[in-house]
Amino acid sequence: MGQSPGTRKVVVVVGGGVSGLAAAHFAKKAARESGLALKIVLFEQEKRAGGKFDAQRKDGYLVEAGPNGFLDSKPWTLDLVRELGMEKALLPSDQSAARRFIYSRGRLHELKASPLSFFLGGPLSPAGRLRILAEPLAPPTPAGQDTSLAEFARRRLGREALERLLDPMVSGIFAGDPYRMSLKASFPRIAQLEEEYGGLTRAMFGIAAERKRAKKRGEETGISSGPAGPGGVLTSFKAGVSQLTDRLASDMGEDIHLGDGVKSISVHNGSLTVHTGKGELRADAVILATPACAAAGILELAAPESSSILAQIPYSPMAVVGFGYDTAALHKPPNGFGYLIPRVENRKILGALWTSSIFPGHRSPEGRFLIRVMVGGARDHETPFLADEDLIATARRELAATMGLTAEPSFSTIIRWREAIPLYTVGHLERLAEAEGALPAGVVLAGNAYRGVGINDCVREAEVAALKAMETLKQS
Ligand SMILES: Cc1cc2nc3c(=O)[nH]c(=O)nc-3n(C[C@H](O)[C@H](O)[C@H](O)COP(=O)(O)OP(=O)(O)OC[C@H]3O[C@@H](n4cnc5c(N)ncnc54)[C@H](O)[C@@H]3O)c2cc1C
Repeated sequence: MGQSPGTRKVVVVVGGGVSGLAAAHFAKKAARESGLALKIVLFEQEKRAGGKFDAQRKDGYLVEAGPNGFLDSKPWTLDLVRELGMEKALLPSDQSAARRFIYSRGRLHELKASPLSFFLGGPLSPAGRLRILAEPLAPPTPAGQDTSLAEFARRRLGREALERLLDPMVSGIFAGDPYRMSLKASFPRIAQLEEEYGGLTRAMFGIAAERKRAKKRGEETGISSGPAGPGGVLTSFKAGVSQLTDRLASDMGEDIHLGDGVKSISVHNGSLTVHTGKGELRADAVILATPACAAAGILELAAPESSSILAQIPYSPMAVVGFGYDTAALHKPPNGFGYLIPRVENRKILGALWTSSIFPGHRSPEGRFLIRVMVGGARDHETPFLADEDLIATARRELAATMGLTAEPSFSTIIRWREAIPLYTVGHLERLAEAEGALPAGVVLAGNAYRGVGINDCVREAEVAALKAMETLKQS
């Protein structure tokens, strides 16, 4: 390391999760397209790249440590896969994965796709369903104001829908807490629909009518199908999600530095220097794609105001407990995606994913069945950190109580994340704008702590960050 090589501009990416790796890819692409001589260097503190994209491979099982895929209904990850020529590595989930369940009042309830069957067949009592019918009469969120997911759902749909439908959905996506989470930051599409149409029922009918009119005119609308947003097929990679990050990392060649964490950034006369554990490098732009708490530490001296805002973004811890069973020992092998559990049920797990039903033949050996149990989240910082044998016993007890699974697993494994998923609390987007406004020129943020935690969001935001960094190069 040392001075930047020759006249080439230097972009430093900090963090080798999917966000940082994709940002490096998009910066390289933009430089190529604009004919700019650019050196892109990525620093990752761990000895391996991928961040949350990791898996345990043991006894023929592939247990994803983090995400198990992305939805193909949004274009960003698929476009990246196509750019990399990796289409053949894609692994769409089995049709059975469309069957999703909620555990409520002692049994699993299937959530049907059609609005009517969803309404009639879900976990709500008749009174809870009737309350949903009053949704069009609910007062709107005051214009421009943010609110919690819980306040929004209770006001529009009633307490039961909040507790038994929205709450488990929030666990499934964010391992979050609807009472603290921002509607605008966590479900921007829903906030937008309420603003545009005045409510969710009106939005559903309005969108259906617009689609009909567009169809008559022979046009595509590109509007998602309902208030809950687009569906889509859960899609992974044959060798696990890290096939994507491995490929992005290998494309970096010598310009990826593993096991070399960034400590700080300093600014002198408008010029940026990145200080790592092993040296320093002058940079024309820096993309910070670490978790927010790490970004806060890196920015402490160069941008104290941004740093103190980023330091306040909370994270939920999680443990993923993988159990493998002899399929023959299962009374009836589960058929579907899995299930989520509302907080009001007071269980010790968030839910379970029936991995061998989602990706048959790809995640467990012949004659075996893999289940991933999700533990922890924003409202349980203790269970994920139980001693291994206690955590396994707890997860087994919960599987017995919620899905009647009492068979002895022939395989088990645990993966823990102290900072699994960031929580966008009420006012998140306003605070983020402040933090970004106070960054030194040439420093941009990427990663799941800001505008979406899904893989698709991370890839989309990585491209936005790369283009922003390229823009600052023109000014430097
Ligand atoms: C259990 C679990 C299940 C999930 N399931 C899904 C799913 O099914 N579908 C989906 O779309 N999303 C899912 N997600 C969310 C998704 O996986 C993440 O949001 C995404 O992978 C985050 O990527 P990232 O690159 O932003 O952050 P990370 O993957 O956290 O990467 C950040 C990187 O920065 C590095 N770093 C930190 N500090 C420094 C430093 N000082 N210097 C250099 N490097 C540093 C870290 O080591 C890490 O590698 C899941 C997440 C978890 C935890």
